[in-house]
Amino acid sequence: MKNEKETTTRSDFIRNIINEDIKNNKNDGRIVTRFPPEPNGYLHIGHAKAINIDFGIAEEYGGFCNLRFDDSNPIKEKQEYIDAIKEDIRWLGFDWQDREYYASDYFDQLYEWAMQLIKDGKAYVDDLSSDEIREYRGTLTKPGKESPYRNRSIEENLDLFKRMKTGEFPDGAKVLRAKIDMTASNINMRDPVMYRILHKPHHRQGDTWCIYPTYDFTHGQSDSIEGITHSLCSLEFEDHRPLYDWYLNELGVHHPQQIEFSRLNISYTVLSTRNLLKLVENKCVNGWDDPRMPTLSGLRRHGYTPESIRTFCNRIGVAKKESIVDIALLEYCLREDLNKRVPRVMAVLHPLRVVIDNYPEDKVEELDAVNNPEDESMGMRKVPFSRVLYIEQEDFREEPPKKFYRLAPGREVRLRYAYFITCVDVVKDEKTGEVIELHCTYDPATKGGDAPDGRKVKSTLHWVSAKHAIEAEVRLYDRLFVKENPLEGKEDFKSYLNPKSLEVLTDCHVEPSLKGAKPGSRYQFERLGYFCVDPDSSDEKLVFNRTVSLRDTWAKIEKNLKE
Ligand code: ATP
Ligand code: MG
Repeated sequence: MKNEKETTTRSDFIRNIINEDIKNNKNDGRIVTRFPPEPNGYLHIGHAKAINIDFGIAEEYGGFCNLRFDDSNPIKEKQEYIDAIKEDIRWLGFDWQDREYYASDYFDQLYEWAMQLIKDGKAYVDDLSSDEIREYRGTLTKPGKESPYRNRSIEENLDLFKRMKTGEFPDGAKVLRAKIDMTASNINMRDPVMYRILHKPHHRQGDTWCIYPTYDFTHGQSDSIEGITHSLCSLEFEDHRPLYDWYLNELGVHHPQQIEFSRLNISYTVLSTRNLLKLVENKCVNGWDDPRMPTLSGLRRHGYTPESIRTFCNRIGVAKKESIVDIALLEYCLREDLNKRVPRVMAVLHPLRVVIDNYPEDKVEELDAVNNPEDESMGMRKVPFSRVLYIEQEDFREEPPKKFYRLAPGREVRLRYAYFITCVDVVKDEKTGEVIELHCTYDPATKGGDAPDGRKVKSTLHWVSAKHAIEAEVRLYDRLFVKENPLEGKEDFKSYLNPKSLEVLTDCHVEPSLKGAKPGSRYQFERLGYFCVDPDSSDEKLVFNRTVSLRDTWAKIEKNLKE
């Protein structure tokens, strides 16, 4: 399952720390990591980076990686998200076996620990409102101010906290805070909130609780309970590490080491559950699995392979420095993978009718076509050829510019796996002047695509037989945003959405071998790119998504022609 070559020879700052720990027999040489998603949305490719690090490192060192749902906020969390997260991790090729945990299962223990901190004089119940707490907290340049409730007696705190738990107070009336230091330079250490009152049922705990622990009071202790050795997370938690350490030290329990790495950012998209949720809620896309989304379910529907995503994660590596990775690198990893294993077929997206005048009316030939020139074992298939064909509109120019080598009046080209044809006439729409049909002749001596007299043609076109082809819808995707970093602009990031990110072509024709193709199947449409069958597809109507174009030489040629 892992990509041997890419992972085993690797070295980075996290692996260096782990190597050192193993040398010193820290944790008796055990390596236990966890992947801790909050079930508040679907996983995105940034999570894939974290998963690849958490599961990848555990696997490499013969350790374990737990899947732990960080589900301490009942407002944002749903079972739908839990199910989707599990499906996506499995799809990526990682396995948590029976180690599926929920932070909410530790609520009793967390409550006990909170009581312990109160008894130790390290936590207190505060009556300030959330606005007041924010005000008292100070800023980066201004120290915070102590709450007037900070010096309540231990007995009073114990009593109030118990009553918070039994539901005596309304939402927001009180919080439990750690008693650390209101002048600490790190704002996270200025008496952070540990518990808030929230009269909301929890998706797993039902109505058991009306107080919920914060992320900071939950995460480290959950790590500790599970015997995690290395708690790997992204850089935004770096400033929380002193607090992570403080709780574990004060409680005197097993103390994992938190290590932070930089988040993955990718150009022309956003990667954070919060922002992706906004795209879904505002219907900027058609759901979490819209192929334009950087979610794993979106990438899957788009035709991405799990292997290409893992290769990408390995290539970008692990570092501390924030950067934006070019989406072209992800596409490169994808093409590399698809090229090896995806069968070639012929499809015409913008059809132009071609009649071969000297080809008999009722004749049909089954021609041999290669499934993958990169891999002979993928074999051959038959493609029907007949008198009326479709070729791509852009493969014909009535007045060809200089570097245009494809079909033009009087010019001969090769039809892939078939014959040389020469254009002898052009039929136009009387009203619009648009070319609607070509008449060609074929040379029967060139069957299979070579002329016995050695004459050459400058281009080879793909085609389908009109009466045999299957009609299809093809959805073309472009970048979701027009701005490289949509979060950087003056406007709301949604205003940088690319209005042309989806183009639907409804008059496409694919070769008959694709009949009955199942959702998820992938193909290379010769000369056009990689495509996959969308779940919207049915026996009545095939629907394809363009996964990725072929190397952008195609785009370059088009551009040169326009200049
Ligand atoms: P939000 O932005 O709403 O906080 P999130 O995208 O950070 O959501 P979490 O559920 O908080 O999602 O993240 C789960 C784990 O995945 C965390 O350990 C986090 O460090 C990691 N992670 C999240 N986003 C990225 C990213 N872009 N790159 C690398 N790791 C990430
Ligand atoms: Mg987060």
